[in-house]
Amino acid sequence: MSDFQLRIAPVKVRFGAGVRRHLAEEVEALGACRALILSTSGRAETARQLASGLGGRACGTFAKAAMHTPVEVTREAVAKATDLQADCIIAVGGGSTTGLGKAIAYRTDLPQIVVPTTYSGSEATPILGQTENGIKTTLTDSKVQPEVILYDAELVQGLPVGITVTSALNAMAHAVETLYAKDRNPLSSALALEGLKAFREALPAVIKSPHDLNARGKTLYGAWLCGSVLGQVGMALHHKLCHTLGGSFGLPHAETHAILLPHTAAYNEGAVREILQPAADLFGGGLGDGLYAFAGQMGAPRALRDIGLNRSDLDKAVELAVRNPYWNPRPVERSAIRELLQRAFEGAPPEDIDGRS
Ligand code: NAD
Repeated sequence: MSDFQLRIAPVKVRFGAGVRRHLAEEVEALGACRALILSTSGRAETARQLASGLGGRACGTFAKAAMHTPVEVTREAVAKATDLQADCIIAVGGGSTTGLGKAIAYRTDLPQIVVPTTYSGSEATPILGQTENGIKTTLTDSKVQPEVILYDAELVQGLPVGITVTSALNAMAHAVETLYAKDRNPLSSALALEGLKAFREALPAVIKSPHDLNARGKTLYGAWLCGSVLGQVGMALHHKLCHTLGGSFGLPHAETHAILLPHTAAYNEGAVREILQPAADLFGGGLGDGLYAFAGQMGAPRALRDIGLNRSDLDKAVELAVRNPYWNPRPVERSAIRELLQRAFEGAPPEDIDGRS
């Protein structure tokens, strides 16, 4: 048994189809009576429904959450929360809405309840990414960690299959990088593997029957596990590449994760083979190849060129990715990263650990 340390936030988590109907009691348990409900414009109707279910405990809705948490949106939302004398924030949506709730909590210390409708896992972390003047910065603060999470499978039943798959692979990427994280611990490894297992088992069932509440519930369980470990340990090459491609080339978040995950897993596999073996066993073959096959079967996008990257961006992307690299189990080698990105650009299978394709 090696020495280790970890930090676990005191978060209340409830799972269940229809659990959103307990929102009023959760608001009350926080000692709050004026909840501001956040969403993107696309989820505004869900936000309104939650508000009406809260009766007098809702003070308003704000449906302007946007990808990468622009600070100008946050300022407007904080002003509204202040005007309405909100004493609690409810975020219903994916990582963008959760991000807005966290950004408000960071500035006001209001308690947060999150009702996730994607699998990105942000609700389970004390991490906030926000964008100002086109630059995204990330901070970690306990004020940002939501106090309550309600995972309601009914709310992901209608999540379109495309977002379902990319957002699941986004969550799975947190788990894969947790397995080999420098500061991993026995609990983070167990949770990460359990998260991968949940998606491995339930995602095919969800793709087959998107309204299968049991399978949807299991994918939410996976999302929570994968999000929890993201908040516990440091991320490596995969997240660095995704942040670079998202931040500097505007590539969509979940799709970028989905495309790169098999490649980054394959890149690191030789350096941490034993550590990744239990995950590889879930998908068959090597982890990179197994994830590539799994993502393909789920209909995930495979090529960066299909989601907005230009061939002429590749060299700059490599330059940015190798500059100030995150710690990674295999050294971040410029020519190998160029090869990795080339393959991901074209949608080719990952290079295997022995250098054969
Ligand atoms: P998102 O929140 O932007 O949602 C994607 C789209 O799907 C939006 O248009 C949204 O309205 C729509 N949508 C959401 N739920 C739906 C549903 N059930 N049915 C139909 N449409 C639905 O995307 P995301 O991938 O969940 O989150 C991405 C953002 O989260 C990024 O900004 C990323 O940086 C952030 N993130 C942060 C953390 C963290 O710990 N800080 C972790 C993961 C992701």
